[in-house]
Amino acid sequence: MKSRLQDIKKEAESEIPSVMSEEDISSIKVKYLGRKGILTLLLRELSSLSPEERKETGKSANTLKKWIEDTLNLKQTELREKGIESLKKGFFDITLPGRLPDIGSIHPLTKVLNEVVDIFIGMGFTIEEGPEIELDYYNFEALNIPKDHPARDMQDTFYITDDVILRTHTSPVQVRTMERRPPPLKIIAPGKVYRCDADITHSPMFHQVEGFMVDKDITFGDLKGMLELFVHQFFGKDIALRFRPSFFPFTEPSAEVDIQCVICKGSGCRVCKGTGWLEILGSGMIDPAVFSYVKYDPEEWTGFAFGMGIERIAMLKYGVDDIRLFFENDLRFLKQF
Ligand SMILES: [Zn+2]
Repeated sequence: MKSRLQDIKKEAESEIPSVMSEEDISSIKVKYLGRKGILTLLLRELSSLSPEERKETGKSANTLKKWIEDTLNLKQTELREKGIESLKKGFFDITLPGRLPDIGSIHPLTKVLNEVVDIFIGMGFTIEEGPEIELDYYNFEALNIPKDHPARDMQDTFYITDDVILRTHTSPVQVRTMERRPPPLKIIAPGKVYRCDADITHSPMFHQVEGFMVDKDITFGDLKGMLELFVHQFFGKDIALRFRPSFFPFTEPSAEVDIQCVICKGSGCRVCKGTGWLEILGSGMIDPAVFSYVKYDPEEWTGFAFGMGIERIAMLKYGVDDIRLFFENDLRFLKQF
C-alpha cells in the first residue's frame, strides 16, 4: 500500500501542475478525490493495516490529499485571474453594462382599439363579436344590400364561395346580435375586416369598431351626443365635429362625421387637403328595413349605428401618414407608442 501511495503521489505531482482549464481541475478532482477517486479508495483500505502502518500511511495519504486540494484551489484562482486579465487586455470591456432584454409593447392599433372600446364601455355599451368568415346574408342581404345593389361595388369583397365571404365591415355583428337578443341593446363590436384594396391609406385587412343602440325613442340627437362625447374623450375637448349628410343602405338618415383637423386645428394643411376637416366615421339611424330582417317592430323600436376604421383614427391621432407602417413590424416604428 505504501508503494501504491507513492505511485499516486508521483502521478499527481506530474499531472496537476500542468492543468490548463477549469474542466481539467474538476476532472482531476473526480479522479483523485471523488467518491470512487483513487486516493479516496486507498484511504478506505487503511482499516486493513496494522495500527502502526495505518498511522504512518494515513498521515502521508492525508498530506497528499491536502496537497492536491490546495494546489487545485490555487490553480483555479490563477485561471480566473488570468481570464479576467486577458479580457481586460482584449477587445472586451468588462465594465460595460450588460445588454438588456427587449421589453415588448402594445401594438399601436391594439392600443387605439382598446381606448375606443373603453370609452364606449364607460357609456354603458357591451362588447359583441362575430365571425370574420361571414355569410353574404349577414354582410349584405340583411343590411339592406341585395345582390344587385350598387353599394356592393363600393366594397371590394373577398369571395370564398358565392355565399361565403370575408366580412367587409363589422356591421354583420349588428344583425347577428339583434337576431339573438331582444331590445334594448347598447353594443360595441370591434374586429378585423377585409377588402381587396392596398395603398398608403388602405390595407386588405384592417380594424373597425361598430357601435349601435336600440331602444324606445332613440333619436339622432342621442347619436350625436354619444359621438360628441367619444370624439372629445379620444381626440381632446377642443376638437370640433360636424355631421355631413351621406348615404348607407342600412341607415336612414345617414351622416358622415368629420372632426376638425387634428394637425392644423382647422386652418388647412396637407393632411386635411386644405379643408380643415377630417372624415372619421359613418353613422345614421338604423333603417327600418334592417329591423324587419331581425323581426324588431320599427313602430316600437328605433336605433342608431356607427362604424369607424381603427387604422384611420390611429393615423390621425399619431400623425402616421402610411397605413402599411402598422403591419410591417418594424420595431423602430412600433416602439414609439
Ligand atoms: Zn389640417
